[in-house]
Amino acid sequence: MLQDQIRYMDSYDILTDLANRNLMEEDFTNNLPNFIKNANPVALLYIDIDDFAFINESKGYHAGDHLLRDMANRMKNIIKKDDLISRLTQDEFVIVLTGEETLEDIDIRINEISKGTKMEWEFEEEKYMISTTIGVAIYPKDGMDFINLLKSGHLALECAKENSRSSFEYFSKERKCSIVKDLSGVSDVKLALETGQFEMYYQPIHDLKTHRFENAESLIRWKHPEKGYISPAYFIPIAERAGIIDEIGEFTLEQVFKQKSQLNKLEHGLKKISINISAISFSKGSFADTIKEKLKKYGLKGEEIVLELTESSFSTHGNMIKKNIEELRELGIEIFMDDFGTGYSSLARLKDLQMDYIKLDRAFIVALLDENGQEIIKPLISLANALGKNVVSEGIETQEQCSILNKLGSEYGQGYFLSKPMPYEELEKLIKEQSEKG
Ligand code: C2E
Ligand code: CA
Ligand code: CA
Repeated sequence: MLQDQIRYMDSYDILTDLANRNLMEEDFTNNLPNFIKNANPVALLYIDIDDFAFINESKGYHAGDHLLRDMANRMKNIIKKDDLISRLTQDEFVIVLTGEETLEDIDIRINEISKGTKMEWEFEEEKYMISTTIGVAIYPKDGMDFINLLKSGHLALECAKENSRSSFEYFSKERKCSIVKDLSGVSDVKLALETGQFEMYYQPIHDLKTHRFENAESLIRWKHPEKGYISPAYFIPIAERAGIIDEIGEFTLEQVFKQKSQLNKLEHGLKKISINISAISFSKGSFADTIKEKLKKYGLKGEEIVLELTESSFSTHGNMIKKNIEELRELGIEIFMDDFGTGYSSLARLKDLQMDYIKLDRAFIVALLDENGQEIIKPLISLANALGKNVVSEGIETQEQCSILNKLGSEYGQGYFLSKPMPYEELEKLIKEQSEKG
């Protein structure tokens, strides 16, 4: 009971019963993989009640609380099922629109919300005209994570308040020299490649029973000299759109093959290395040949390489991918289907597809401890097992998740609980430690 109470207070605003900032940030972050996958614009609305201080001061806190609750109820009625909503502080609310397909649709929704939060409000037989001002930030253009998007939304709100009340305004790049502006300049990525700002990290893929590992997934890291760490979840899609993903792919393959051959020279190596491949590269006719050349160059066998391809690319990039997969599997290379479970359409076709393992998307693991979480995951794992595929669960952060997943039939797993992604040197050390343990 006390535990429940504490958890509630950690995540909710008691006055309005809306999510608080913590929960909103968590929900937003958990949804990021879907935002990226769907490639639709997501809008964060930073909403402020006009003249709230006036009500609070002239009518007392009791009136202020009343207004906040009424406003919260109004907002709950205008939002759609997939939208996120929270009260941040005092009279500041945030709504995130996640289900719109275009910027025009977003604009229509914002107009509705702006109108819907205008109301004639009655308190102790007096009437007040209440309205809101809204600052809008669009993901990923105005911020690539919750914190940055919120910042942009807040700046937009400040601008909106300066210009006029009871309206809304979009975040404007001109007001702030944002990272996005430079990033969309493809030259930045090219420069990063030339000046060695990219590096490969490795995250072990563990056996969930023994916790040992024989494979590790390579994950690219961009350490920008001024902007710090930039997530691949952000720049890979940009590189894909800009037509320079092959250059990044070439860097990844070179680096990983080289480091795998380096590992092979040590007393204790690693059976396999797993590499993420963009569907754009994978659907090129020359892709299998590129891999063959690299195997030869670094003296590796096909059995030492695993290639990860997202579930959606299996279905959207058709025949060339199929042909490449067949050719690569003949060499002994294994194919992992990444982010499984996010595109239901392909479930039925699963048995026709050529893949060796499937990776259960992190979004499912997060939901595991929810009421119905296990009921959703169980059939996914059973289906995979029935088709003779092993399941790797992604994003395992607790012991509890680890043992439940193992019980449900997932043999392998990755996640911060088991090992975080690490630089090559640390991977070497970890492999050594593991073999010394015996
Ligand atoms: P992914 O293939 O689904 O990779 C798993 C992501 O989950 C990684 O994010 C990893 O760091 C993160 N992760 C691992 N364990 C946990 C955990 O316990 N909790 C949480 N919250 N996250 C965890 P990362 O490294 O940011 O990579 C994001 C995506 O970028 C990858 O998703 C992959 O699609 C893409 N990517 C990464 N490296 C490459 C690359 O070399 N080439 C290509 N084409 N794509 C890459
Ligand atoms: Ca992956
Ligand atoms: Ca994944």
